[in-house]
Amino acid sequence: MFLILPDEVQVNESLESFLIRLYQVNGYDSYRTLAFVVRDWLYDHDNEASGAWPLVLQQANIYHANHSSAFRIRAFKLLDSLFHDASELVLSKCLLNSASFFSPRLSSVAYRNVLIPQSFLRKSNIPICPKCLRESEGIPVFWHFKPYQVCHIHECELVSHCPKCNNQLNYIVDEKISHCRCGYDLTSAEGKEVDDYESCLSKYLAGEDVNDLPQCFDMSERLGIILWFYHRYKSVPKYDPKAIIEYFSQWPNIYYDELNAISELAIDRQLKSFNHTDFKAIFGDILICCRKLPYRELNKNVILKTTINYLIQLVDKNPKNKVANLADLKLNVIEAAAILSTSIEQVYRLIEDGYLKLCIRLKRHSRLSPFQSAFYLRHVIELRQSQLPILGNQHTTYLPAW
Ligand SMILES: [Zn+2]
Ligand SMILES: [Zn+2]
Repeated sequence: MFLILPDEVQVNESLESFLIRLYQVNGYDSYRTLAFVVRDWLYDHDNEASGAWPLVLQQANIYHANHSSAFRIRAFKLLDSLFHDASELVLSKCLLNSASFFSPRLSSVAYRNVLIPQSFLRKSNIPICPKCLRESEGIPVFWHFKPYQVCHIHECELVSHCPKCNNQLNYIVDEKISHCRCGYDLTSAEGKEVDDYESCLSKYLAGEDVNDLPQCFDMSERLGIILWFYHRYKSVPKYDPKAIIEYFSQWPNIYYDELNAISELAIDRQLKSFNHTDFKAIFGDILICCRKLPYRELNKNVILKTTINYLIQLVDKNPKNKVANLADLKLNVIEAAAILSTSIEQVYRLIEDGYLKLCIRLKRHSRLSPFQSAFYLRHVIELRQSQLPILGNQHTTYLPAW
């Protein structure tokens, strides 16, 4: 069996777009027809892989294959072998399952070594840029990401509905790239032009340098920052590019001001002593939500770094005193792990080895729950600053003495 490769396969073309163009250029009437032919060919070569071959385009991507994803990877590799000189072409287009998560425990998929929050993936509607489609037929993978609302090349809003029949566009359901299911030619649609400012977020997602958003080269880190922002500020219209750019143009002062206001309010309204108060009762989930975005290392997690800097200053401004102050708030294991840029397991080892002191008494034979408040903020910050081998940029694993 031999398959013709579609023209101009772009590096960032989505898997589904590639598969649609593949069935078209090889003269099949639908993806399903091609899928049956490929499956029969696979059956002769590798029974397990043929069982994992997707017959429905909407389920084609590897992250949809829960249990048999290893077999599906094998099936795509075999498909690659049908093209002349195109090693790992199909596989490189896949969104893979990933065990990594973004705080607070949000699942991710991997694409070319970039981790993408699964909540960013569009499902029912995949908007398009008509100008891009005029230039080349193929759907870039960016159009699948919810925060990507504006074409970063043409600076126009993506078109989400067909101008003729007003149906939501989804090329995967329609199995057509440049036409709506009603037959309308999408290259004649017009996307609303936007100003430079509004296209910043899309440029950031496409890997370009943008002044108003935090400087980082790693794409997973950029996605972590975007995820953190929309997760924290739920009142902001979801994926509104203006809100996030405006916010980060004032970073980090805008965040510090917000945390200062929270601290002042806590002092004004204090009911019980701060050494009997949980950190999260005052500051909410600020540590839980930036612990892993998707990295723990401070040089790759600007939100965590800024949060810790704030807490270091807070402890400095509130020295140990007879009367408890904000530096004596109580942290749980997960919050301590965030400040120490380490894993929850490592925090337990720090307790066992006597580096981290509990501020509560545990009942005999009972184990500390990760959610139980057990350390003073001051102690954890002091440990962070003590240059233990756990700390520093690269070393997030605590090395015991032996
Ligand atoms: Zn475009
Ligand atoms: Zn239509």
